[in-house]
Amino acid sequence: MFDLVIRDATLLDGLGSPPRRAGVAVKDGRIVEIGKILGSSKETVIADGLALMPGIIDNHTHYDAQLTWDPWASPSSALGVTTAVIGNCGFTIAPCRARDRELVMKNLTQVEGMSLAVLRAGVRWDFETVPQYLDMLERQGSALNVAAFAGHSAVRTYVMGEAATERTATAAEIASMKKIIVDAVHAGAVGFSTSTSPAHNGEGGKPMPSRLAGEDEMRALVCALGDVGRGVFMLTKGGHTSISFLEELAAESQRPVVIAALLHSSTNPDAVFHDLQKIQEANERGRKLVGAVSCCPLAMEFTLHSPYVFEGLQAWQPALALKGDAFKKKLREKEFRNALRAEIAKPAHFRLFNGEWQQVHVVQSARPELEQRSVAELASAAHKDPLEWMLDTALEENLDTLFSALLLNSDEAAVGRMLKHPCSLVSLSDAGAHLTFFNDAGFGLHLLGHWVRSEGVLTLADAVWRLCGQPAQLFGIKDRGALKVGSHADLLLFDPATVDRGPKRRVFDLPGGHPRLTTAPVGVYGVWVNGTRIAGRDGPVEVRALPGRLLRKFDVD
Ligand SMILES: [Zn+2]
Repeated sequence: MFDLVIRDATLLDGLGSPPRRAGVAVKDGRIVEIGKILGSSKETVIADGLALMPGIIDNHTHYDAQLTWDPWASPSSALGVTTAVIGNCGFTIAPCRARDRELVMKNLTQVEGMSLAVLRAGVRWDFETVPQYLDMLERQGSALNVAAFAGHSAVRTYVMGEAATERTATAAEIASMKKIIVDAVHAGAVGFSTSTSPAHNGEGGKPMPSRLAGEDEMRALVCALGDVGRGVFMLTKGGHTSISFLEELAAESQRPVVIAALLHSSTNPDAVFHDLQKIQEANERGRKLVGAVSCCPLAMEFTLHSPYVFEGLQAWQPALALKGDAFKKKLREKEFRNALRAEIAKPAHFRLFNGEWQQVHVVQSARPELEQRSVAELASAAHKDPLEWMLDTALEENLDTLFSALLLNSDEAAVGRMLKHPCSLVSLSDAGAHLTFFNDAGFGLHLLGHWVRSEGVLTLADAVWRLCGQPAQLFGIKDRGALKVGSHADLLLFDPATVDRGPKRRVFDLPGGHPRLTTAPVGVYGVWVNGTRIAGRDGPVEVRALPGRLLRKFDVD
């Protein structure tokens, strides 16, 4: 007697093979037969040709804090993700001493887009070291499987305290950090993660600790992985970190390197392709490097109270420190506006916003008739310059008008090329972070709906390989990411004709009733983790016991 049989499905095996019609039988959490299934089962699903693939492996999440209060890692589990890699970019909550908890939470609020109140109310501090954190996750259980990085910023704070955000480390401090990483990998961490990105700041604009590391520290910590002979090195790089330095680290440590975040900018359209080219050349020299790319456009919501989109502009600096009426007065000044307009019109090497007014929309206004229309269209109807129109409208509404701007990855042809690149890894959902700005936890369903069905950029088999087999192989996740006999039964049943992620909406379910953005699955018929169904057509279903496992053993290649 089988535990689960799914009959008459179109199988996508996660390894890139062409689809084929067959059934799958599961017993004790593993796939035991594939083909024409005879024999009875406790649970039977007639798929009627729907597509069945391995569950999605989301290799770039930030669920480290959320998992301590939400073992479902909502919304990812309902969106077809059956394994989440947490602790990316070096932002982990372990290791952490009791006296540093406030410091670690303050660092996270900014980069994770979660308020300090949420973290204070939510995080269960039942650990100090990385091995203790892993033990806690294992005891508590989760709906999906979890693999965890040892994160540089937390390790640095553990060793250096407040000085972690202020200076380079001494040789003794580097040796202590190295020991923590070795112990973490021995205890089951999937690798070591860090960030050198100037976009990564803690409370009050302080740089995240890892950004203060010198090259000697980076080298020593990546080589800790080499000493153990296990683990992936993941980093989100700033412009000053060269691919050739990362290639050196890959060569010295003999470990795979995941390089984030390769997002396409229309003002510097060749930059990501140069990086991918260098990554490809490194692979030809025998190193294992991949470029983490996103299949989603990067869009942000903001008001003029805190216009992240403009704050990097030189011409905005006179307004940056002002508050209240002084700030509003500045926004009205003719010279200030002229300087802004002039700067936006000039070409730039890298800039978030470049005057694409047709990509800036009103989301919420005191005048609902403005909503969902672009600033370009509204300004032209009012016979005004778009910048003037935007500032005037916001000032009339006490700066409360909510705008959205499409900033990066908006050039579909370029993103399509990145997704097809032989050295790219589909990644960067950032699920569990940036909760009030955007939510790309449904990136996998978006890849299947938009890039396979609507755009035809990838075949279904290739997209499924990129969501399952490729990350499983890269991270050494054993017996997952492929539909084959003996594999763990992590499964996603969906309709290729309708699969998609739903529109994002604001919900208030964080600890203390705080808001976040979420998105619902479309065209998903079932999600199973280790043979247990965790979601059906209407979202998450009740389970007797949480079926996810903490993954602690990774294949050594
Ligand atoms: Zn990240």
